[in-house]
Amino acid sequence: RPRALSGIQPTAGSFHLGNYLGAIRQYVDLQETHDAYYMVVDLHAITVPQDPATLRANTRLAAAQLLAAGLDPERCTLFIQSHVPEHAQLAWVMNCLTGFGEASRMTQFKDKSARQGADRTTVGLFTYPILQVADILLYQADAVPVGEDQRQHIELTRDLAERFNTQFGPTFTVPAPHIVREVAKIYDLQDPTAKMSKSAPSPKGLVNLLDDPKASAKKFRSAVTDTDTVIRFDEENKPGVSNLLTIHSALTGTGIPELEERYTGKGYGALKTDLADIFVAWVTPFRERTQAYLDDPETLDSVLAKGAEKARSVAAETLAAAYDRIGFVPAK
Ligand code: ATP
Ligand code: MG
Repeated sequence: RPRALSGIQPTAGSFHLGNYLGAIRQYVDLQETHDAYYMVVDLHAITVPQDPATLRANTRLAAAQLLAAGLDPERCTLFIQSHVPEHAQLAWVMNCLTGFGEASRMTQFKDKSARQGADRTTVGLFTYPILQVADILLYQADAVPVGEDQRQHIELTRDLAERFNTQFGPTFTVPAPHIVREVAKIYDLQDPTAKMSKSAPSPKGLVNLLDDPKASAKKFRSAVTDTDTVIRFDEENKPGVSNLLTIHSALTGTGIPELEERYTGKGYGALKTDLADIFVAWVTPFRERTQAYLDDPETLDSVLAKGAEKARSVAAETLAAAYDRIGFVPAK
């Protein structure tokens, strides 16, 4: 079976609809076809300041949401990144293979550090993509399910895998991004040209899965559209309407052309109200399942412990091979 690997940050507590449609749904699908590894990336979370108690709670909450979304511990390996020390160890190796200029070209770093200001930006945020390289290569992943915003980081991963393999001999699988075009970038409901994001400047257009569904329904009903009246998919001229059609199509499985036909002659209000109802119907059982996992911390912790053990066995083998190729003396 080919391997799949992905990780998701526990920083905001709740996942948002972009995380779910762009990434988590693909995690669930790839369980069927791949030997799949998914982790809550707490090491990545501390690239920006975190309160310890909140980080701990949010890490468990992230795992509960992944299970509620359909990850099945019988069919995939779910773990917490910090439980597998090899991530930080291989990251150091990869740091030493990455050019400073190369790392400086990462657009996510440029965006996030610009928002934070240079004084508050950590070196960890700068080397974050290189830790991500290690995350992926440790599992010899073939496919990395992610949203569009991660494409550049997967490109860096491919470059570094090839660089290591050329310099030291074949060691790492060169991975490919698994990006589903239709849902690769879900937009903010209030600013439909900006990515829906955990770190969005305002929560008004951000649909969090664990928020009160009534509040989310209201966000859909007041989504920004345009002054035209036609419901048509046209990302360039009608980004707001197109985003709503994308979400509708993804949640119901109805094709966009069929939706365009269904809403012919109807106003934006009808689309928004329908979508609000569709979202609430989908998210209500999701929230209940998440709560059920939180109410049973023993089961949750045992899933994560088993996941870490399995992940470590794979990661340790890869790290040992890499250390050997580099010329480190084996510890006896
Ligand atoms: P931040 O803004 O702090 O980076 P985030 O919202 O991007 O947070 P991450 O944990 O970085 O969340 O991303 C988890 C996964 O969700 C990644 O694979 C990412 O590509 C995907 N993703 C994030 N936002 C979207 C979005 N708006 N549409 C589709 N996929 C997304
Ligand atoms: Mg992100």
